[in-house]
This record gives sequence, structure tokens and C-alpha cells, in this order.
Amino acid sequence: KAKRNGRNNFFIYCDELHHETQQKNLLEKEIKFALQNDQFLVYYQPQICPSNNKVKGMEALVRWDHPSRGILGPSEFLSIAEELNLIGSIGEWVLKTACIQLKSWQVKYGLADNDMSISVNLSSLQLQDMNLIESVSRIVSESGLSSHCLELEITESSIIHSPETIATRLHQLDEMKIKLALDDFGTGYSSIEHLHLFPIHSLKIDKSFIFAYKQKRAQDRVLQAMIKFAKYLGLSVIAEGVETDEQLDFCLSQGCDLVQGYYYSKPICALEFETKYFET
Ligand code: C2E
Ligand code: MG
Ligand code: MG
Ligand code: MG
Repeated sequence: KAKRNGRNNFFIYCDELHHETQQKNLLEKEIKFALQNDQFLVYYQPQICPSNNKVKGMEALVRWDHPSRGILGPSEFLSIAEELNLIGSIGEWVLKTACIQLKSWQVKYGLADNDMSISVNLSSLQLQDMNLIESVSRIVSESGLSSHCLELEITESSIIHSPETIATRLHQLDEMKIKLALDDFGTGYSSIEHLHLFPIHSLKIDKSFIFAYKQKRAQDRVLQAMIKFAKYLGLSVIAEGVETDEQLDFCLSQGCDLVQGYYYSKPICALEFETKYFET
């Protein structure tokens, strides 16, 4: 009997594996098709100065307008795109779209160069790519956007693998006047010991710390210390995931420079963004 069960399990296992491979193959075809047929979208979430409610920038966040499944968030396709080595093409497309978008808002609404910057996420594979600097500089210059209006967000875990190589690359971006933010701070492997190697401009406190505020006293002290730490290093502090009045007040009282969260707005499409923030 045991043997029979084992056999059945084996068949089930094979079947699942087969199914998974099929799904991956399908997704690979779909992602490639999506890239060629403009199915990806960029949504924008405002980054707001909590002391005067001014929009100081926006984060570009990728979406996939899937023909049968509707609008998909990054959690539905980014890790698989990374596995299939398609993240570079998606990332370049997002960067290009975001730079062109901010440039066109600057022109359309007469924004000064220093009014706003746009933040774009870089995946760890992009950071490891030898051609990163070349492609970023080409994309930015073709868009006409001043490079200091661009901020690239990287995560702690993407720098720990080869900190020296990555540091060289980040210094090249810094020389181009592109700003760098450390995203999801406090969640990954801590790179505090390597922080001095990187020309980081701002630190984004991960939303899990903001969500936990007032629920876990000990964690609140960690949060306060993280903000102090960042300010002590002269970094700009962005709090992510601010949803409530209480969380906003806390960020304000701790001197967070910028706040990004559903309290102000979810990520929205370009048209909605301009209606909400520029057409006033
Ligand atoms: P992230 O870079 O940390 O972006 C912030 C995420 O937090 C976004 O999720 C945003 O919608 C969400 N968020 C912001 N405020 C709140 C809030 O108040 N409450 C809640 N519950 N959530 C909030 P999203 O758009 O689903 O993106 C998830 C992650 O996918 C991003 O996290 C980033 O790591 C990755 N990602 C998104 N777009 C790109 C991209 O173009 N390239 C790369 N490499 N990664 C991307
Ligand atoms: Mg980010
Ligand atoms: Mg984040
Ligand atoms: Mg994240």
C-alpha cells in the first residue's frame, strides 16, 4: 500500500512540475509579448513633504495591463521576470517612461528643475549588469530630463553580494548627479557596515515599521532610532506606508523629510496624477 501511495505521489509531483514549467513558459511568452505590445504601465505615487503638504516627487511603480487578467502588480510577475532574465528590459522601459513623463510634466506645468524628482526602482540584476551606467546615461539624456531630477532606489540586499563592484557603479551614477535611495530600509540584510561605501542620498524606512507603529512599543523605539540614525548621517528620510493621521503626525514629529503612503494617495496612472496634483 505504501508503495502505491509513493507511486501516486510521484505522478502527482511530476504532474505539478510539468504544470509549473508550462505556466512559466506561458508567462515567458506573455511577458515578451507584453514588452513588444505596450502592455506595461507605470503608476506614480506622490512623495510629499509632511510639513507643508507639497509634492516633492513621485515613485514610478510598474504594472502589467494583462489582456485577460486585468491590471497586475509587481508581485505577480517581477520575480519570474527576474528569473527569466527579462527584468532588465522591463526596468529600462520603466526608467525611460518615468524620465519622459517627468520631463513632460515639467514642460506642461512649468515646473522648475528643482521642484520635483522621480524615483525608479532598480533590481539587483540591473545593478550587477556591466552595461547599467551606459544604458542609464543614454536613457536619461534622450529623455531630456536633468539627471539630478532622477533618483534610483536600490535595496540593501542587492548591494551585499559584491559591495566593491556595486560601490564603483553607484559612484559613477553619483558623478552623473543621479540621486540614490536605499529602499525598504531595515528589512534586508543590514548593510550598515557598508553604508559609508555608497553615495546614498536618502533612506526609505520600510512600511512594516510604519504599520507597526503604536502596536509594538519596542519597535517604535527602533523606528525612532532609525530616523535619527539617517538624519545623523545627513540623509534625507522618506517614510513609506503612511496610512493614518497618527502615523503622519509621528513622521512629522520625528522630522521625516518626505512621506509616501495611502494617506495621501495610492499609486495612480499618469493622467490621474496630473489631474490630482497639477491641474489646480
Ligand atoms: P517598493 O519600491 O518598496 O514600493 C512601495 C510599495 O509599497 C508599492 O507597492 C506601493 O504601492 C506600496 N505602498 C505605498 N504606500 C503604501 C501604504 O500606505 N500602504 C500599503 N499597504 N502599501 C503601500 P507595489 O507598487 O505593489 O510595488 C511592490 C514592489 O515591487 C516595490 O516595492 C518594488 O520593490 C517592486 N517594483 C515596483 N515597480 C518596480 C520596477 O519598475 N522595477 C523594479 N525592479 N521593482 C519594482
Ligand atoms: Mg521603491
Ligand atoms: Mg520600499
Ligand atoms: Mg519593496
